[in-house]
Amino acid sequence: MSKRQIKTDTSEETIRLAEKLAVLLEPGDVLTLEGDLGAGKTTFTKGIANGIGVSRTVNSPTYTIVKEYEGELPLYHMDVYRLEDSDEDIGFDEYFNGKGISVVEWAQFIVEYLPENRLDIKISNLDENSRMIEFYPHGAHFKTVIAELIG
Ligand code: ADP
Ligand code: MG
Repeated sequence: MSKRQIKTDTSEETIRLAEKLAVLLEPGDVLTLEGDLGAGKTTFTKGIANGIGVSRTVNSPTYTIVKEYEGELPLYHMDVYRLEDSDEDIGFDEYFNGKGISVVEWAQFIVEYLPENRLDIKISNLDENSRMIEFYPHGAHFKTVIAELIG
């Protein structure tokens, strides 16, 4: 297995899928989200947050790069879009090796800081409310997670 995909037809379906994924995650897991503006990266992150027991509302962290949320596991929500033309390291290692779940929007801009073991997720617009969500698990743990999520 190198890639699995699921189509969702509403944002609620995307959130539910992310919630199901979230309960399979472990401290220190890193997820990346790639997709155009409006694809659903932040929507997917809201589902991850719900699934790990974050009660605050998750909003786009565009102007802060990282937002931390308390939950059963902490959530580190990053939007690194503004790092496109820089190689600034905002202390990624501490997040990626921390106890929380890291979710990185626009992770293609910080590939050099990403851990080898991670779950890459690509969201594509099919039409106004449909999205194709592709999972690229790297490492044994995430291959197991995706097998459990998708079967
Ligand atoms: P991004 O973070 O990728 O820029 P957002 O999650 O902020 O995207 O926005 C996605 C928008 O698309 C939201 O307004 C959401 O309600 C809408 N949407 C419609 N259908 C879907 C779907 N199937 N999955 C996710 N979002 C959807
Ligand atoms: Mg976003």
